[in-house]
Amino acid sequence: MQTENQKVNLPLLTEKKVSLFIKREDKIHPLISGNKYRKLKYNIRKAKIVQYGTLLTFGGAFSNHLLATACAAHENKLKSIGIIRGEELAYKWMDNPTLSKARELGMRLKFVSRSDYRNKQSLEFIAQLKSEFGHFYLLPEGGTNDLAIKGCEEILREEDKDFNVVCCSVGTGGTLAGIINSVSLHQKVLGFPALKGEFLKKDISNFVTNNQWNLQLDYHFGGYGKVSTKLINFINDFKKETQIPLDPIYTGKMMLGILDLVKKDKFKPGTKLLVIHTGGLQGIKGMNEKLKKKNLPLINL
Ligand SMILES: *Cc1c(COP(=O)(O)O)cnc(C)c1O
Repeated sequence: MQTENQKVNLPLLTEKKVSLFIKREDKIHPLISGNKYRKLKYNIRKAKIVQYGTLLTFGGAFSNHLLATACAAHENKLKSIGIIRGEELAYKWMDNPTLSKARELGMRLKFVSRSDYRNKQSLEFIAQLKSEFGHFYLLPEGGTNDLAIKGCEEILREEDKDFNVVCCSVGTGGTLAGIINSVSLHQKVLGFPALKGEFLKKDISNFVTNNQWNLQLDYHFGGYGKVSTKLINFINDFKKETQIPLDPIYTGKMMLGILDLVKKDKFKPGTKLLVIHTGGLQGIKGMNEKLKKKNLPLINL
């Protein structure tokens, strides 16, 4: 699966003599967010080989990973189970676009309290799930494991060796790790965590084979899922100027960060940036419902 690199033209980039291309991984699939498709590919293959008919994973109410798992399971004739953070959602999932779509794709949803959710990795909790659901292929929250990283090592292609810097947003860091492992010696990778992610440096180090990378920790906008009017206005302006949609949780924060670094002359004139669009656009509807309640501006669809 290969996606196009689309050139972005903005006055700021021309002024600073920096070229910027976006790899449109968001176009891989309407529901399986680009990087989630990569992360699931080899896991689905393995789940089929070991003949577990069921995928089980975890997520919050707007999780791209959860919906991607539901959709990939559906397309591969596997069953899926989602363990959802928040008991209160048991009565409200129909009003949530992500959860209702997952349900429509056949995912069984189990709602658990926040404290149970925090213990989801414990052997005890997993054993309880086994007794309730039988055998399943377990995908961690966010979907990061060795096979997920292997899938993300296929994002970059031979022709991408032309670029000096590759940028990607970061949740668990699995996608970034795959990219780091597949760059050439002359390339550098910048990760933009979408959450307060000091711990990520260590997590990612465990998965990677070189140190040609760093994390830009100043663009999380208050934490995971947090947004501001500034961020929303940026996403809307960027779309108006480039016709490229960004999501508020990951790619919007990253792109604002990249252009801020350009503005601050952090890239030498002549630098060629490749920015990975990891998708996440399915989450805009749900975010807009939250924004409406808070009387904040909405993201233009
Ligand atoms: C999940 C996700 C990420 C983060 O991926 P990780 O591998 O967890 O770092 C980035 N962008 C989008 C759109 C995502 O859905």
